[in-house]
Amino acid sequence: MEIIKNEKLYEGKVKIIYKTNEQNILWIEYKNSVTAFNGLKKDEIVGKAILNNKISSLIFEKLNEKGIENHFIKELSDTEQLVKKVKIIPLEVVIRNIVAGSMSVRLGIEEGTILENPIIDFHYKNDELNDPLITLSHIKVLKILEDDQIKEIEKKSFKINEVLKDIFDIAHITLVDFKLEFGLDEKGEILLADEISPDTCRLWQVDTNERLDKDVYRKNIGDLLTAYEKVYEKLKSK
Ligand code: UDP
Repeated sequence: MEIIKNEKLYEGKVKIIYKTNEQNILWIEYKNSVTAFNGLKKDEIVGKAILNNKISSLIFEKLNEKGIENHFIKELSDTEQLVKKVKIIPLEVVIRNIVAGSMSVRLGIEEGTILENPIIDFHYKNDELNDPLITLSHIKVLKILEDDQIKEIEKKSFKINEVLKDIFDIAHITLVDFKLEFGLDEKGEILLADEISPDTCRLWQVDTNERLDKDVYRKNIGDLLTAYEKVYEKLKSK
């Protein structure tokens, strides 16, 4: 059946979501915007939408091949994709293999310190509150998830980390940390959603530790398109 784009459902910082003629399918359009520090720093970079769409699609396809179910259905064009509709759970699930970013600042641990085991932390997805770090008790107080759902998300996230680490290892990229979002599908099942790209992962080139992710923009230490293109080329060729 042909899928037709209908009215706009929501416009976020970097994506526009449209309804379609199919109730359980959404149409995603990536924008050329880049934002950091909860939108305090923002720019338009022509070509970014294509790279985010292509990288995220490629990663979701690779995850699917490895048995990690996710919302991705197919790429429609350079900047558009179809996904399964889910109700997004208001949590940013962060997995870390190496200390960087906010963890390094908050705990005073040097960026680049390798963690003995991967760790998980949760942020409450709420722009007004600046996406605060929250505890498991807070998740229950806010009635976001039940205990067993939290356990399921933890299990899925660590599994995704193992599979993603392999995908990036083969491409000679170190997966430092990343953020995942999950949603509930029409059956109430927890499904991996949103995007996985250099906007949402810290990716360091093996050997040189060259930054190939949004930190080049956050910290003004390089050209975003060049970094994202490298990630795409490395992933695509493997
Ligand atoms: N991250 C994200 N969206 C956010 C916050 C973080 O995709 O709103 C990603 C970020 O790119 C990094 C990981 O989550 O790969 C961990 O980020 P951290 O908590 O260190 O926060 P940051 O330093 O990015 O503010």
